Amino acid sequence: MATGSTPRPRRKVTEMAVQVDSHLMTDLKKMGAFDISACYNCGNCTAICPLSVEGHELPRKLIRYAILGLKDKIVSCPEVWLCYFCGECSTSCPRTADPGQFMMSARRYAIRRCSFGRVADAFYSSKLLSLLALSVFPLILLGIFATSHGPIITDEVDMWSFIPMDLIHELGLIVMAFLGLSVLANLFIMYRNLSRAAGAAPSAKVKLTRRAGIWLKALITIGIVEVLAQRRFTKCDDNSSEAQSKKGTYKYWAHMAVFWGFLGLAGATLIDYGINEYGLTVSRDISRVLGIVSGIVMMIGAAYFIYKRVKKDEVFSTFSHFSDWIFLILLFFGGLTGFMVTSFLYAGMAEATYISLVIHLMFSFDLLITLPFTKFAHAMYRPFALWIVTARDQVSAAGKTT
Ligand code: SF4
Ligand code: SF4
Repeated sequence: MATGSTPRPRRKVTEMAVQVDSHLMTDLKKMGAFDISACYNCGNCTAICPLSVEGHELPRKLIRYAILGLKDKIVSCPEVWLCYFCGECSTSCPRTADPGQFMMSARRYAIRRCSFGRVADAFYSSKLLSLLALSVFPLILLGIFATSHGPIITDEVDMWSFIPMDLIHELGLIVMAFLGLSVLANLFIMYRNLSRAAGAAPSAKVKLTRRAGIWLKALITIGIVEVLAQRRFTKCDDNSSEAQSKKGTYKYWAHMAVFWGFLGLAGATLIDYGINEYGLTVSRDISRVLGIVSGIVMMIGAAYFIYKRVKKDEVFSTFSHFSDWIFLILLFFGGLTGFMVTSFLYAGMAEATYISLVIHLMFSFDLLITLPFTKFAHAMYRPFALWIVTARDQVSAAGKTT
């Protein structure tokens, strides 16, 4: 009904609607944050955290969100990804509330909430469901190999007769397409969550070209400094004792071994692919040596974390969620079976090569296809969060100086 009065302009809603979830603490506790209810908000953990800086304080802020049931705040807070679990906050908490473990469970929660269709729930809600979800693709692969393999030549090793290269190529394309789309979808959800949280802050007045330059520079810097060299990891060091600090160094190198080993294996696969599909004129020995060395390096890194989780002698390894085991087992056996394929191949053991090749493909493809929904997803969420935080902070600083 027209009233004749001037309509009041609508106020742009910038603050995200606050939803309280009374089950949030229960959910977080199921994923590892068993003791966090003991927190009495003293702030000691934030004061001691080597990665907590003004504007990006952790972990107390997130603990308050959790206690208040603010689930959207937890997943829209980039600080969840800024912690590398050195455990210093846990060793110094006067209430033994284990804030480091809380941060880990908040990351598990964020992986679930950022996955499209909540697919990641299948890998975090129950062990049985998780095993079923992990088995789906390997069983499909096994069915395909059982019905589509080529002749089994035993007087010499001919892997690509046994499993035709075209078949691997097509399967690889399907896996990579699914992986690419899933990564994009999940990062988009994460970006939307982070943007909701940042929506309340006034936008800095910075020219579009300068803004684009800042974002690009931040992307390159984060790619080199934080992804390839993982500099923040070196800062996340529990200095409460010399022994703790030494353990932190081992953890850093084990993490680097897993990361660079995986990257080396991806490189070896690409070289092989280039030789087979595009006639790349390099010796196949390059990809084989790179594959063997990378596989060993990745296995050493994964074995270190498996050993730590069995031994439970550090803050980060005292509790292991089954999602931690899934990731480590896929990594370790992906590397081990790849190593076995190459060893049997050089030893001229045809049947052993074919069997280990099938198992290796099952582990490797499973690792890749489940990447956006398992613990492996931290490899995409953490650099993405760091990029957004860095670029936004720099745009904001540039706005103050213009
Ligand atoms: S987790 Fe511990 S150190 Fe941190 S605010 Fe709570 S009681 Fe204090
Ligand atoms: S585990 Fe380390 S980086 Fe993470 S919140 Fe605690 S002190 Fe900070």
